[in-house]
Amino acid sequence: MKPSPFDYAKPSSLDEALGLLDTGGGNAVVLAGGQSLMPTLNMRLSSPSLLVDINDLQELEGINVAGGILRIGALTRHQFVERSTDIARHTPLIAMAMPHIAHPAIRNRGTFGGSVALADPAAELPACLLALGAEIEIAGANGRRKVPAGEFFKDLYQTDLADDELLTAVEIPLPVEGYQSAFEELARRHGDYAMTGLAAHAKVDGKNVSDLRLAFFAVSGTPVLASNAAAMADGKDVNDETIAAIQESLEIDLEPFDDLNCSAKTRMLYARELTGRVLRTLVA
Ligand code: FAD
Repeated sequence: MKPSPFDYAKPSSLDEALGLLDTGGGNAVVLAGGQSLMPTLNMRLSSPSLLVDINDLQELEGINVAGGILRIGALTRHQFVERSTDIARHTPLIAMAMPHIAHPAIRNRGTFGGSVALADPAAELPACLLALGAEIEIAGANGRRKVPAGEFFKDLYQTDLADDELLTAVEIPLPVEGYQSAFEELARRHGDYAMTGLAAHAKVDGKNVSDLRLAFFAVSGTPVLASNAAAMADGKDVNDETIAAIQESLEIDLEPFDDLNCSAKTRMLYARELTGRVLRTLVA
């Protein structure tokens, strides 16, 4: 199929892009890497009247570290993030997640901001941002604002972004010493979207974990922070007994959905299994 007709604009500044989105009045959409948007246009799942191509906005590209914050520009390609030494050093959780995002050809073109703005419930990065306590930076006609990851993801493919706003960057507080990360997902084939996944970050001292953040993805419409399971783990040594108790708490935290990939019951089993794996990795 071919997409419905649309106008195309390639602004050369952020202000110009925001102006185009504003005049588009909800019928203009941002084109970043196009890896998710183009298929939806071709299948006529969406029919915007204007595409605002942000690929010339160099100010939205790159990774930098300053003032205790790691900042990833929205237009930074997945493959750049994957190869970044700053990411490997400061946010290993994101480095662990990157190879699971689709395939190299898609990662060459797809952008960090595109993944976050799309808010696919089975995407890896939203869960990593939740686990790391990141903030999403948004620009609009009234200036810039920052939204914690926990408030940004609203529902299935729904975020806090308004039609006339652009996601400009993601900011992650640099983890302090003593914190460790672990990442696990189960997918049918490598590169497929996950059936269940888990991004974890915690303070670790020997076998003892505290400040545990377990962010599940592909279980609900948004990534979910398992707060009861985290409270159960807090200040305890990780062993078979505590793992079993933490897994049990997931029954309170998670309400997995059914879909063609697997049932809610299977997802809960996967969530329990992944929890055991990440806890053992965190204290290994
Ligand atoms: P686009 O396709 O250009 O845009 C996606 C959406 O976000 C559009 O609605 C667009 O308007 C909006 N948008 C983009 N950038 C901005 C911005 N800066 N501000 C506001 N709105 C914006 N992703 C995963 O996470 N895990 C996977 O396992 C995975 N597997 C995939 C497998 C296949 C076969 C394909 C085709 C894609 C897969 N993806 C996966 C998606 C891939 O990661 C995309 O690159 C990503 O979701 C979207 O990034 P993009 O830059 O291509 O965005």
